[in-house]
Amino acid sequence: EKGRLMFAGEIDFLKGVVAMDGLPPADRMEVCFAGRSNVGKSSLINALTGRKNLARASNTPGRTQEINYFTAGDQYLVDLPGYGYAEAPVAVVEKWQRLLKAYLSGRQTLRRAFVLIDTRHGVKAVDEEIMQLLDRSAVAFQVVLTKADKVGKVEQQRILAQVRGALAKHPAAYPELVMTSSEKGDGIETLRAIIATLE
Ligand code: GDP
Repeated sequence: EKGRLMFAGEIDFLKGVVAMDGLPPADRMEVCFAGRSNVGKSSLINALTGRKNLARASNTPGRTQEINYFTAGDQYLVDLPGYGYAEAPVAVVEKWQRLLKAYLSGRQTLRRAFVLIDTRHGVKAVDEEIMQLLDRSAVAFQVVLTKADKVGKVEQQRILAQVRGALAKHPAAYPELVMTSSEKGDGIETLRAIIATLE
């Protein structure tokens, strides 16, 4: 299966980027992962890549405002800094927003953004801001629900409906949602296959 094949090779941390001129050459397609702090982004990237601490390793304090690049075969996986962290200083937030805007609107090889949403919390105001930025930048995005194991089936369905409703007003959004649990492995193969089929 293609999804497996893509990740069978080495996935390596390439570099952390703090400014647009630090981006690696746009010589292959890439997908990026965005989400609120603590949404489970590192856990998801680790589950996707089958590597225990790949994302965590690059998430050491001081590097958290960096865009982290991983090489995965003929693609880049791009880990964007978590947003909405209440204690981040205003100057840091503004710097990060500028870089994010520049990245999302200026990266020709960015094929899809995965916007991670915690299944317990649904779409928050900061998620809406990111999705509006993606609309304006014409970057196709897809929502990945995280930590699905933390809620029951009924609550999962309620959140799915809430997220679907929120996505309806975003022209850049894919209607298809992926519900995942990095803990249990649910949805991970599905997400791998989605990434592997992008060209
Ligand atoms: P990040 O800040 O978005 O990178 O979030 P982390 O991946 O560090 O996860 C934040 C917290 O949520 C950690 O305590 C994880 O163990 C927990 N977590 C992440 N994914 C899952 C999941 O799928 N299920 C459960 N139960 N906990 C998770």
